[in-house]
Amino acid sequence: MEFMFGIPSFVQFGCGVAKQTGEVAKQLGAKKVFFVYDKGVKAAGLTDVVLSSLKEAGLEVMEYDEVLPNPPDTIVEEAAQKAKAFQADVMVALGGGSSIDCAKAINILQTNPSPINQYDGLNLVKNPTKPLIAIPTTSGTASEVTAFSIVTDTTKKKKMVIGGQFVGATMALADPEMTMGMPPAITASTGMDALTHAIEAYVSKGAMVPTDLFALKAIELIYKNLEKATKTGQDLEARTNMLLGSMLAGYAFNSAVLGLVHSIAHPLSVHCGLPHGVANAIGLPFVMEFNGVAVPEKTKDIALAMGLDVADKSAEEAVTVAVEAVKSLSKKLEIPKLHDLDVPKDLFDRLAEDALKEISTMFNPRDVTKEDVLQILEKAY
Ligand SMILES: [Zn+2]
Repeated sequence: MEFMFGIPSFVQFGCGVAKQTGEVAKQLGAKKVFFVYDKGVKAAGLTDVVLSSLKEAGLEVMEYDEVLPNPPDTIVEEAAQKAKAFQADVMVALGGGSSIDCAKAINILQTNPSPINQYDGLNLVKNPTKPLIAIPTTSGTASEVTAFSIVTDTTKKKKMVIGGQFVGATMALADPEMTMGMPPAITASTGMDALTHAIEAYVSKGAMVPTDLFALKAIELIYKNLEKATKTGQDLEARTNMLLGSMLAGYAFNSAVLGLVHSIAHPLSVHCGLPHGVANAIGLPFVMEFNGVAVPEKTKDIALAMGLDVADKSAEEAVTVAVEAVKSLSKKLEIPKLHDLDVPKDLFDRLAEDALKEISTMFNPRDVTKEDVLQILEKAY
């Protein structure tokens, strides 16, 4: 047996840990903190907890609130200049994947030359980065614990996957209270993203014993709590389980990588502006169905982790049950279809071509042709 497994970030998990941001930053040697978030997080009133903690610790803070969804490289370059001029020594990121990924990319450019586009790939970031504290406000991307930053290359119109040992956050402050205010639609789509991470990591060609353990526990936690967290946002236990589940899914896919659902989701976001979680949720059941032929036993494990009644069923039957359960969950969560989102069918060809070029396609358990992707898109329409 041979494998390479890693988790880049230390994690402090629990209600109220976001209030310790200032202390943690100080321990990491901070005097000047560059604080990255988006306007939605500010509107939800989440920045105050972090800001007052940083101020109480006597730190000088520069705020950057221009983060956009599917963060474009142009924003990263602009923010990196500001952080450099400010001479920031620690980064703090508060938000969903976009804010944390953006902060990771800004942080890379503090100690590595611009432009960010030259680091698209694995281990291309050569110089160690400064400390970064990530505080998630969604239970989806798990960017707080992964060694990847996903930034949009606006020239090539593709999502870059920047990965490596210097990319991840130094410390994740995973505070379920910071996810309580998430609106139902965001809870649903980001949660489906997390479920996709766990499922894709489990069936990935890059899966290994440690990632399997994290993936199965993540599937259980997410499948059993996502509907509750979406419909009863104030349920702290469901919120806590979702944050934990998404984090464990992050541990899994950080080393096992992902698969075809993400390969299709990335071009959908780039060309049609679909939020990452929505794009994944739409494709998940159809890719599971497609992959089921190649990994029936593993799909049965997934069904068992979800708590479905498949113990006495054949692996092939369990695939059908698992796929139907994911479809029905999507329905309950009101996940739209591609036609609801006005994705034009004449774009399918380009989407399929781009999906084949994504790194995650190499890790998909079943070999994929353009025709296969077109069929999946057709079903998801
Ligand atoms: Zn994802």
